[in-house]
Amino acid sequence: MGDEEKFDAIVVGTGPAGATTALLLARAGLEVALLERGVFPGSKNVMGGVLYRHQLEKIIPRFWEEAPLERYISERRYWLLSKDSVTSVGFKTQRFCEEPYNSFTVLRAKFDRWYAGLAEEAGAMLLTDTVVEDVIRRDGRVVGVRTGRDDGDLYADVVIAADGVNSLLAKAAGLHPELHPQHVALAVKEIIAMPAEKIQDRFALEEGEGTAIEVFGAGTAGMFGTAFIYTNRESISLGMGAVLSDFARTGLRPHDLIENFKENPMVRRLIAGGETKEYMAHLIPEGGYKHVPPVVADGFLVVGDAAGLVNSVHIEGSNLAMASGQMAAETILEAKQAGDFSAAALASYRTRLEQSYVMKDLKKYRKAPAFFESNTHFFSLYPNMVNDAAREFIAVDEKTKAEKQGGIVRSVLAKRSLWGFAKDAIGAWRSLA
Ligand SMILES: Cc1cc2nc3c(=O)[nH]c(=O)nc-3n(C[C@H](O)[C@H](O)[C@H](O)COP(=O)(O)OP(=O)(O)OC[C@H]3O[C@@H](n4cnc5c(N)ncnc54)[C@H](O)[C@@H]3O)c2cc1C
Repeated sequence: MGDEEKFDAIVVGTGPAGATTALLLARAGLEVALLERGVFPGSKNVMGGVLYRHQLEKIIPRFWEEAPLERYISERRYWLLSKDSVTSVGFKTQRFCEEPYNSFTVLRAKFDRWYAGLAEEAGAMLLTDTVVEDVIRRDGRVVGVRTGRDDGDLYADVVIAADGVNSLLAKAAGLHPELHPQHVALAVKEIIAMPAEKIQDRFALEEGEGTAIEVFGAGTAGMFGTAFIYTNRESISLGMGAVLSDFARTGLRPHDLIENFKENPMVRRLIAGGETKEYMAHLIPEGGYKHVPPVVADGFLVVGDAAGLVNSVHIEGSNLAMASGQMAAETILEAKQAGDFSAAALASYRTRLEQSYVMKDLKKYRKAPAFFESNTHFFSLYPNMVNDAAREFIAVDEKTKAEKQGGIVRSVLAKRSLWGFAKDAIGAWRSLA
């Protein structure tokens, strides 16, 4: 394909970031090519996954009336899990059972297909089964991409890297360093089929309603990470993720870990009788604010996971991907009007990100990745300690209550000194508050 057939924009990747960018640019009348390596959008994509309503509603008002969603989430539970016990806190509200809802579970194979389909309907040219292998540069600026297809190269005023974590494109454009094992989590997930009524009975839900459980402790065998259990319409999504450096440190294997999690008595009873339909693995960028790469170059922008935009403290990624896609599209439309796609002209994309909740939230938690990476006892010692203390407190026997309280304090201090607690409290406060 020669220059004369060039597009206004080439978007690489049909995840939430790429589909948003392509949809908004096509809606504004630009000639857009949307490229995807999978045989259809979503075929290779993995997410827990909870999709938050707010961001997508800005792009598609009342999307819940047409999107392939699983269940609206009315409840979030947080578990501190040990090998035979759980301490749980949660929040449930009837308000999240009503429009406009707060969040939904989705299965990406269905959701991405629908969402990228909207971009196609708006006029974007969707090319699936197309692996982008490199960027094409001319005089130092990105002018197109090299694909693995026979008809090869595609050209555009601007290329948007929405190719996810470990972005090949951002690396090719010289923006992305190699990912460090401390800054990326390996996540594994299973989809376990179960009839809707059984899910509703087990999780105390009404029809259409869902729950999301985040698990700290035994779910990741004490590694820096979390596990999750989310209810879909007729299946349960269950999985866990932990930083790669912890997998290397412990020698644990993802498959063993997920099996172990499923066998935990607190988990086993929720999934009993279900049938595993899919097993998948994926990486999650966890470096946070300090590891967001430069997001523009001449003729080039990076969005979503490719730019490391994941808030792992709150398990938010898809919304940040969509938000960045929207900001990238707004920036490109301005650049188109000015006829200038230089890095200087595209720099307002970074400013938009910095001024929005996307980077403000990442900035707030900028110290968290390094702190928890070097204090993994938060994921082992504390869940066990809390469960041991709760069991002793609740068990009724002949010990007096004063003896019980004294015993709990002694047992806690035997595991962590007062000085250790103080250090942990200050560190956690500085990382999270
Ligand atoms: C197990 C797990 C659980 C998660 N849970 C949640 C959750 O509950 N809520 C939440 O908000 N976020 C969650 N996330 C994070 C969320 O999935 C991501 O932040 C989000 O998908 C990022 O969107 P994206 O469009 O940037 O990238 P992706 O969704 O990764 O999309 C990238 C796309 O680019 C394509 N691609 C890649 N390379 C090429 C190439 N060379 N050529 C052509 N196409 C290419 C891929 O096939 C893919 O379609 C989770 C992630 C994982 C792994």
